[in-house]
Amino acid sequence: MSAPPKATEVVVVGGGIAGVATAYYLARAQVPVVLCEKGVIAGEQSSRNWGWIRKQGRDPRELPAIVLALRLWDNIARELAENIGWTRAGIAYVAETDAELARFERWLPHAREHQLDTRLLSSVETDALLRQGRQRFKGALLTPSDARADPKRAVPALARAAEGLGATIHESCAVRSLETSAGRVAGVLTENGPIACGAVVLAAGAWSALFLRHLGVELPQLKVKASVQRTAMAPLITESAVGATRAAFGRRQDGGYTIARSGAVTFDVTPAAFRHFRAFLPALKERWGELKLRVGRGFVDELITGASWSADRPTPFERTRVLDPAPDHKALDQVMRDAADLFPQLQGVASVERWAGMIDVTPDEIPVLGPIDGMPGLFVATGFSGHGFGIGPAAGYLMAQLAVGERPIVDLHPFRFTRFAEQDITRYPEP
Ligand SMILES: Cc1cc2nc3c(=O)[nH]c(=O)nc-3n(C[C@H](O)[C@H](O)[C@H](O)COP(=O)(O)OP(=O)(O)OC[C@H]3O[C@@H](n4cnc5c(N)ncnc54)[C@H](O)[C@@H]3O)c2cc1C
Repeated sequence: MSAPPKATEVVVVGGGIAGVATAYYLARAQVPVVLCEKGVIAGEQSSRNWGWIRKQGRDPRELPAIVLALRLWDNIARELAENIGWTRAGIAYVAETDAELARFERWLPHAREHQLDTRLLSSVETDALLRQGRQRFKGALLTPSDARADPKRAVPALARAAEGLGATIHESCAVRSLETSAGRVAGVLTENGPIACGAVVLAAGAWSALFLRHLGVELPQLKVKASVQRTAMAPLITESAVGATRAAFGRRQDGGYTIARSGAVTFDVTPAAFRHFRAFLPALKERWGELKLRVGRGFVDELITGASWSADRPTPFERTRVLDPAPDHKALDQVMRDAADLFPQLQGVASVERWAGMIDVTPDEIPVLGPIDGMPGLFVATGFSGHGFGIGPAAGYLMAQLAVGERPIVDLHPFRFTRFAEQDITRYPEP
């Protein structure tokens, strides 16, 4: 393992979509940048997700950033000389009940405000979309310009492109702590030595809260486990990605489907959960019915680990190089049954691979994108709450702007870190 450079302009902590995109846009602007990843590029959430890149159904506060992200994804797909599984075939939410359809309808004013192509489909139009004729669904919400990419390919390809533009990327290189001088960030301490720098972008996904806690900064962020599966080859239903309450699918380039269920998550009860219980109460109440609670190894790990360590010894970041939770097979079996019931083309189709990822959630389920008060030079991009793959390129673009002192082209006020202290944490209910 080669030692990282002794100095650079910006250090990015974390090689998921947010960190890699930050490095890519900094390198494009010819800013010296080093990205440190404790494990492997996109080893955690950024390769484990469904790959949906959606404007549809978003919290309205995220719409300007996701509109930017779709533009950037388009450019990335064109600029990268690699197949990243880019498909602009739309995303549809299908309604089994009138109540679901009414919820979808309530989102339409946001689409109109941002001139999106989102529209409601009738029951017959939904049948046509899904190549079925049962009028099983009351209708659907469709955004034809929404897209997908293959997360396993896209993020490593973007990292290679960043390197091609001059970024330095170090895997198996955990950042243990920050160094400050005269009250501002002066560098990082990695397991492979120090790197002096003028700015640090923390994009550490489910680990960001622990990293910040070590610095004395409390970020309300919890982890929930989400499980996914892919199937063997199956008949074409539609090229659009489709979400129903009981099962969601996206067609893969290998002719199979990625199938899961939004909201079918396991919530790890950890010491952090108790610390931030009040902040998360509204979110927990709303999702109570679909949440599974688990007091597992995470609880003990977190108790033992705490957030204080010496930067000259291995830290929790090196003890878990890649967060690789076990998938919830029982939940996935049920999802397969529901998917076959809703979409007959999936009857008898085998689930051939399963995995899970740890999602980092904030109390209002929108990310933190911005500086940390009292730590000049430190910027945070984290807490994407289960929908950061799509918005990731925009997060990276905006963080690159912040790191070099430019005014971001999207207003980042809704994503400020201080909103938690201000108790300004409104959740927007998903349609
Ligand atoms: C099952 C599942 C389905 C999802 N589906 C979608 C979807 O369809 N669409 C969508 O938009 N989003 C989806 N998401 C969410 C999306 O994957 C995440 O929001 C996004 O990938 C977060 O990216 P990130 O860069 O912030 O974090 P991550 O991808 O988690 O990357 C953080 C990286 O930081 C590294 N790191 C942490 N600490 C340190 C340290 N101290 N030093 C060095 N490196 C460190 C970690 O090893 C990790 O690789 C899904 C997530 C899951 C789990």
